[in-house]
Amino acid sequence: MQSRWSEPAASGKSDLDQLIYASRLIGAEESLVLWGGGNTSVKVRGRHFRGHETDVMWIKGSGSDLKTIEAKHFAGVVLDDVRPLLSIEGEMDDDAMVGYLANCLTDPKAPRPSIETLLHGFLPAKFIIHTHADLIQALTNNEKGERAVKDAFGEDAVVVPYQRPGFKLSRMVHAAVAAKPNARFLVLRKHGLITWGATAHDAYERTIDAISRVELYLKTAASRGDPFADKAFPAMAPEVRKGIFLSVAPYLRGLLSRSKRVVLRFDDGPDVLDFVNAKDAKRLSQIGPATPDHVLSTRV
Ligand code: ZN
Repeated sequence: MQSRWSEPAASGKSDLDQLIYASRLIGAEESLVLWGGGNTSVKVRGRHFRGHETDVMWIKGSGSDLKTIEAKHFAGVVLDDVRPLLSIEGEMDDDAMVGYLANCLTDPKAPRPSIETLLHGFLPAKFIIHTHADLIQALTNNEKGERAVKDAFGEDAVVVPYQRPGFKLSRMVHAAVAAKPNARFLVLRKHGLITWGATAHDAYERTIDAISRVELYLKTAASRGDPFADKAFPAMAPEVRKGIFLSVAPYLRGLLSRSKRVVLRFDDGPDVLDFVNAKDAKRLSQIGPATPDHVLSTRV
C-alpha cells in the first residue's frame, strides 16, 4: 500500500487539522475502512467547561465518514475523566459506558464519541489511528490467526484475541501495549489494526507499513496454494453462458421477488468464473462473512 502523505499539504497545520488530514487519507483507502469503519484521535491541551486548561482527546464522532471528515465531526473528551476508568473494579456495559462518556465532553452538543473511545483514551500515544482493514481480517480470521500475525510482523506487533468492542476490549488493548512497549502496531484479531505516533504522519505511516507487510505476507502465502486452482468444470464460451443466463434470469428473478422485488446483475468476470468452477466452490461459498463489518454491509 502506497503512502499518500504529502508534507507540503500537511505542514503548518494544528494537531487537530493534522489528524483530519491523516483521517481523510485513511478514509480514501476503501480497503482500510469498509463502510466508514475505523476511527482516529489526538490528545491535546484544551479547555475544560469550568475554564481551566486540561488534557482533551479529540475523537471521531459516531456515524461520520473518515473520507470527508471535518473538525465538527470530532468530540472533545476530557481525559482526566476517562483515565480513572482504567482501574475500576469489574466491567462496564455499553449503556453505562456511553452514558459516562456523555458526561466527559468539553461540549455537550458535540457528536456522540465513537463506541471505541476508551480504546483510544486508555492508550498514552498522542495520535491514534484505528482501522478495520480487509487485509487484517484476511490475516486473522482463521485458525492460524495468531501464528500468521507473528509471521507477518515478527516482534513489531502486539496481538489481542477477539473481544467485541467495548470497555473490556479497551482495557485489554491498554494492557497489551503496556506489556510490549517497543511494539509498533496492535492487531485486534478478527477486527482491525491500531497504530499510533507522536505525530499524525508517524501514526499514518505505521498503518501503511503494517498493511504493506500483510500484503507481502499474504502474497507469499497465497502463492503456496490457490484454493480455486482445481476446477470441477471448464468455463463455457462467453456467448453460451450469456444465453443461459438470459433464459433463466426471468424465472430466477420471479422466484427471488416473491417476498421483495429485486433486480439481477450478471457478472461473469474472471474472478467469478474462477470461484464458481472450482472443485471446492460449494464449501467455500458456505464459509460466511469474514468480519462483523461484512455481516452488516456485504453479507455472504
Ligand atoms: Zn474497531
